[in-house]
Amino acid sequence: MSFVIFTDLDGTLLDHASYSYAPAKPALALLHKHDIPLILASSKTAFEIAPLRDELGFAHCPAIVENGAGLLPAHADPESLAGAQSDYQRIRTILDAMPADLRALFAGFGDWSVEEIAQNTGLPKDNAALAARRLFSEPGLFSGNAHQKQRFESYIEERGLKARQGGRYYTLSFGATKADQMRGILKQQSLAAPPVKSIALGDAANDIEMLETADFGVIISNPAGKPLPPLSGEDEGRIMRADNPGPTGWNEAILNHIGGPATA
Ligand SMILES: [Mg+2]
Repeated sequence: MSFVIFTDLDGTLLDHASYSYAPAKPALALLHKHDIPLILASSKTAFEIAPLRDELGFAHCPAIVENGAGLLPAHADPESLAGAQSDYQRIRTILDAMPADLRALFAGFGDWSVEEIAQNTGLPKDNAALAARRLFSEPGLFSGNAHQKQRFESYIEERGLKARQGGRYYTLSFGATKADQMRGILKQQSLAAPPVKSIALGDAANDIEMLETADFGVIISNPAGKPLPPLSGEDEGRIMRADNPGPTGWNEAILNHIGGPATA
């Protein structure tokens, strides 16, 4: 049996307040010891995730970026994915060609300066500059009424785009989700090393489909966020809740679940 781990970052592997993963080091070492792939899956951009993936020592694994809108392949430098052919540039081209009255209803990261992104997101300026380097999706704010939103959405849908309203941003992409990317990666892994068992860890509503797609899901509590509602797999024991928040709960969950069989 081989394992693949999929994990959210903020509030899950990274502490909600300090962004530290230090308490998860024993479990990370166990994954390295047994050569278990760790797939980072986050709303962050490839440019934000790549340095962390390097630091954790998992550059040999793909990462799910921009909430599933795209994939940073194993060993890839995000710079190699940038350019006129990127999904992001295709999204911006569709926005640029839009009738002016519709276009005026949407302001995305690409319409803002790095200073404005920092103000809007609350990120420090250096981080905002990396969050601005998008490859697959355009988060922003929609300012119209329900009727205008309907017109805006039929316009973009005719061109293959989808809009998703998250907690803060209204995001345009070609529609792939964290769970879609996860299924693609699992298919590859199963071809390479069957049978493969997937474990997913996450703390928030945008992790639910990933938790439900995995063979085993771990809900990490986030004292700063809204608790997740009971998920269908919890009754069957396919999804459990970690005893501790953030990287401490992450560490315990991984050691409990793969400590036994992987070391046997
Ligand atoms: Mg999170």
